Amino acid sequence: MDIEDIYNLIPDFMCTDGCHECCQNFGVPSRTQVEDQRLEAFLRKNSMKPGKAKGTTCPYLDEKGCAIHPARPLICRLYGTSPNYRCKMKVAPVRLLHEDEEADIFYLYQTHFF
Ligand code: SF4
Repeated sequence: MDIEDIYNLIPDFMCTDGCHECCQNFGVPSRTQVEDQRLEAFLRKNSMKPGKAKGTTCPYLDEKGCAIHPARPLICRLYGTSPNYRCKMKVAPVRLLHEDEEADIFYLYQTHFF
């Protein structure tokens, strides 16, 4: 199983234009080793440097949004898509995940990538 197989279980989510509410409140997003490697590869490929913590704001948030969007970790993808991670701005995917689907995603994530 690849990490992308788990990402593919998460519904697409269209943020409100210009909103970065969630990226300003949780600091550096948690990642597994595999996600760190994906992030490092993305940074290398794009001649970028690892971000430094900025209080509660994610180091990868810039004026245009998430600077590492294709390589963002699972928690960033999950936010807003399940009842336990509702977007404060009340944006949601067409079909919100059921709590059991969210639990399955975490189970797969933890059993394969921790
Ligand atoms: S990695 Fe990207 S999506 Fe995740 S919190 Fe940081 S800026 Fe937001």
